[in-house]
Formats: sequence, structure tokens, C-alpha cells
Amino acid sequence: MAYDSADIAAFKNVWVFCEQRQGVMMPTTFELISEGRKLADELGVNLCGILLGENVEGIAKELGGYGADQVIVCDSPLLKNYTTDGYTKVICDMVEEYKPEIMLFGASNIGRDLAPRCAARLHTGLCADCTHLDVDLGGYIDFLKTGSSLDVENTKFESKLFDVNTNMKMTRPAFGGHLMATIVCPRFRPAMATVRPGVMKKRPFDEAKANAVELVYPEFKLEASDIETEVVDIVKAAKKMVDLIGADFIVSVGRGIAKDVDGGIKLAEELADLLGGVVGASRAVVDAGWIGADHQVGQTGKTVHPKVYVALGISGAIQHKAGMQDSECIIAINKADNAPIFEVADYGIVGDLFKVVPLLIDSIKEA
Ligand code: FAD
Repeated sequence: MAYDSADIAAFKNVWVFCEQRQGVMMPTTFELISEGRKLADELGVNLCGILLGENVEGIAKELGGYGADQVIVCDSPLLKNYTTDGYTKVICDMVEEYKPEIMLFGASNIGRDLAPRCAARLHTGLCADCTHLDVDLGGYIDFLKTGSSLDVENTKFESKLFDVNTNMKMTRPAFGGHLMATIVCPRFRPAMATVRPGVMKKRPFDEAKANAVELVYPEFKLEASDIETEVVDIVKAAKKMVDLIGADFIVSVGRGIAKDVDGGIKLAEELADLLGGVVGASRAVVDAGWIGADHQVGQTGKTVHPKVYVALGISGAIQHKAGMQDSECIIAINKADNAPIFEVADYGIVGDLFKVVPLLIDSIKEA
């Protein structure tokens, strides 16, 4: 539903959906609370976490340590496991009651399922997979186009200022990652965004603020009959997923390993082990089935910012760079001296990775 300025002014505060699984807070939640704090400070409003689950009070205070002023705790055995219908109902009821201006979700599997459901139920907009958030304090100008779009010379543009409210500015990759689009949602509330895990920086934990956070226990209605989904079993992934987002050192492989795939991956693993890091990959390598999808870095993979990112035989397509260019130090090894990866590299080595990497490994071992 589109609101006018007067109705929009009734929406206040920044909310973060606090994702937990089996009583353990997901790291994305702390990143979002930290980012939400920044937005709330710019707007001069409160930051509130909304936490659903069973017996989750114990982890609610942690959120204060990362910047939440308040945590709305919805505790029920019916919320023990995530279900789309149960969580959507409770969140939408809370939003209708408290009217937050902004609502953030992690772009995790749960966030990607829950946020669109809530947005549709609340008739508001959602910007998915954001990589940057900001606040526009200066109102919003609507451009009305008159005349025919085919007759460009006679087409007039009239502008009128229709909304002087603040707006969240949500930035995300568009057109296959070739440009970054900044989107506002001026007439719908709450403005909702899902945010890529690993993009926002977590603030240092503040014990005093953790103890000062206000916990709110609202009354909410949720019956077993509201939930049609039945969680039959929770099966842990058989294989440990690679933790690219938390890694300080990443050695990534690209299609440049094609002439000896097993040998190339082995070299990357050896170098990563020596550095205490993990192995990443470009999408070309994942699509070829040479390595699992959980290793993929980039626009449709993970966004990482390790201390050191080593790119082996990766050309540096814009979609790959979107996921790694904020690394503290980038080392690229590529046999083509004009490979775009060198544009973002701090150190570049032009050469065959199968010759260069063994020399690197030997020199690290000797050091
Ligand atoms: P290539 O581009 O083929 O590059 C291989 C490189 O290896 C070349 O530069 C070559 O000079 C070098 N090389 C070859 N042999 C050697 C050797 N022996 N030693 C050293 N260097 C060597 N890509 C991602 O990575 N992540 C994403 O998340 C992602 N998302 C995408 C989303 C969309 C919507 C689209 C359209 C594309 C996406 N891509 C993504 C794909 C991306 O556009 C590129 O196709 C991909 O990154 C290329 O992978 P690459 O660099 O490994 O392969």
C-alpha cells in the first residue's frame, strides 16, 4: 500500500530480523545490527532487533553489545524451528503494531524466503541482495514524463517534490553486475532490504551496551493451525562447508587451472594450508564441476574481505571482482598481463600459475 507523507511519518525506527538457528545467533545478524546502528544514528531513531524462537532470551542481550537499543523477543515452542508461515505471521503482526520505518534481513536462505513473504503480506517493497545501505535525508523528487517516449524531442519532463520524508538508499548489483543500482522506496513502509552476508562490518562487542539493552516481550497470537509447514527433521550438511566469509586468507582458483584441474586445486590447497586459509573459486570453476558451489566468490557467490586474497588463473570479470575487491591485499597470478584482475591487485605476477605457485610455496616453507 502506498502511503502519503503524513502516514509515512508514523513509521519510526530501524528493525533487524535476528536470525538464529537452534539457539545460536547467525553471524549475519551481528553484521546487520552493526549496519542498522549506523542507519538509526543517521535518522536519530532507535535500533530494534526482532528475535523469534523458543527459549531465546539468553541470546537476546548479545544484540545490545553490537548496537541494538531494544530487542523484541517472540518466544514460543511454535517458533522453535523456522517455518515460513509461522515467522511471517508473527513478524507482520509486529510490524503492523510497532510500524518500523526500515527492516533488514540477511540474504541467507531463511532471509531470502522470509523477507519477500513479509513484504508481499505488508504490501511494501523489498530490495534484495543489497551490498550497501545509506540514508537520504533530503526528500525525494518524482519525475513525471509527459508526451510520447518515442518522440524524444517533444517529450517533457516535469518534476515535483512529493515526499520530504527520509528514505533508505539501497544499493545492489544490476544488469548482471555491470552497474550498481541505488534504489529508494519512497512511498511504502517499512522499506525492506535483504543484505548479503559478509558485506557489512561487525562492530566490536560492547559488554556494557549488552547489559543495557531493553528486552520487550509483546503479546502475539500464533496458533498451531496458523502453521501448515511441518519440520520433520533437521539434517546437518554431510560435509563441512568452507567458511569463506570468516577467512583471513583465501586462495582462489579460476579457469586457468584447466590444463591440470586436480593439480591446480592441490596447489591452491597447499598454499591456503600454509597461510592458514581456505580455497575459493571463480564461477567458471564451479560451473565446470571442479569444486563445490560453497567455494564460489563473486556476485552470485560469497562476498569476502580477507586480509589476503590470492587469485590464481582468474581473469577478473566484473562479477568476480564484485565479491573480492574489498580484500585488504590482493595478489593475482595470471599468464596474461592485460587480465582485468591486475586492475584491483596490490601485487601482480605475470606467469604460469603451475610454475609460480610451487616457487611461492617453497619460499614460504623456507621462511
Ligand atoms: P576466465 O575468464 O576464463 O579466465 C581464466 C584466466 O586464467 C585468464 O585470465 C587466463 O589468462 C588465465 N590463465 C589461463 N591459464 C593460466 C595459467 N596456466 N596460469 C595463470 N593464468 C592462467 N563469476 C564469478 O567468479 N563469480 C560470480 O559470482 C559470478 N557471478 C556471475 C553472475 C552473472 C549474472 C554472470 C553473467 C556471470 C557471473 N560470473 C561470476 C561469471 C563471470 O562473468 C566470468 O565468466 C568468470 O568469473 C570467469 O571465471 P575465470 O576468471 O575463472 O575464467
